[in-house]
Amino acid sequence: MILENARLVEHDRVRRGSLAFESGLVAAAPSGFTIDLRDHFVFPGLINAHDHLQLNSVPPLPHDAPFANSYEWIDAFESYRADARVAAAVAVPSATRHWQGGLKNLFSGATTVAHHDPLHDTHGDVDFPVDVVREFGWSHSLGLGSVPKASSRANARDLLSDSLKSRSLASLVMTPR
Ligand SMILES: [Zn+2]
Repeated sequence: MILENARLVEHDRVRRGSLAFESGLVAAAPSGFTIDLRDHFVFPGLINAHDHLQLNSVPPLPHDAPFANSYEWIDAFESYRADARVAAAVAVPSATRHWQGGLKNLFSGATTVAHHDPLHDTHGDVDFPVDVVREFGWSHSLGLGSVPKASSRANARDLLSDSLKSRSLASLVMTPR
């Protein structure tokens, strides 16, 4: 397959050109059918640095004004868990919900996801919609470093606060695999 006349977004420039694929991978030699993508952009797969794949099907938290901080949002969400719409969403089998999360990311342009919960068996499916980061544990979380899991939210707050005092921004940069 050849994508031609597209604007190809590269790490340091945008150029007009063609892109050939073979067996799902970029290929050097063009072959196969052609799709004209004039007036379209082609981006590399995006990286979603923080998601909970199994919760993508939960309806958005109804709220009019922005929250002052993430702790206010967490407190509001805790009471929202009792809502019938949330209960219905989380009653769907876990494997299905992980797939929904993977598809939602893929349709949004993300091909790699840092999943902010324990890995699920479905993430290893050969046809799972996205790659799930495995090497970084919880280190993708702001300030939590490689600490596996806080036993309570209060504990997480302390960890975050301590960590932010001692870490540089450089430690927050995630390297894709
Ligand atoms: Zn999270």
